[in-house]
Amino acid sequence: MSCLFCGIVAGDIPATVVQETERTIAFRDLNPAAPTHVLVIPRDHHANVADLAEVDPAYAGEVLAAAAAVARQEGLTGGYRLVANTGDDAGQTVHHLHIHVLGGRSMSWPPG
Ligand code: AMP
Ligand code: ZN
Repeated sequence: MSCLFCGIVAGDIPATVVQETERTIAFRDLNPAAPTHVLVIPRDHHANVADLAEVDPAYAGEVLAAAAAVARQEGLTGGYRLVANTGDDAGQTVHHLHIHVLGGRSMSWPPG
């Protein structure tokens, strides 16, 4: 199976990495939707957050904690948004779990 984000984990595809832990990696989104837009992923391949939460809830918690650490490191003191697009209706294009960390501007709710 060929997976873009597994390629980034392996170092085969370049990315601007901003933070790493033993089991997660965070890198800047190629097409940012906000002044700060970082993707946090588990190093291991899981298709979406529901899959990981089911098979390894502690690991899902690590990914969330990593997202919070990225927001802190990026100085998003005014708040930020975490997004985990899951499935086609949500517009998920890369089927390797990723949490979008978005910040640096005010954001409307609900999203479009
Ligand atoms: P999603 O729609 O939730 O699946 O989001 C996938 C995200 O991956 C999009 O925001 C893309 O801009 C981003 N993306 C795609 N390819 C790369 C890449 N090579 N490096 C960084 N971000 C990427
Ligand atoms: Zn993958």
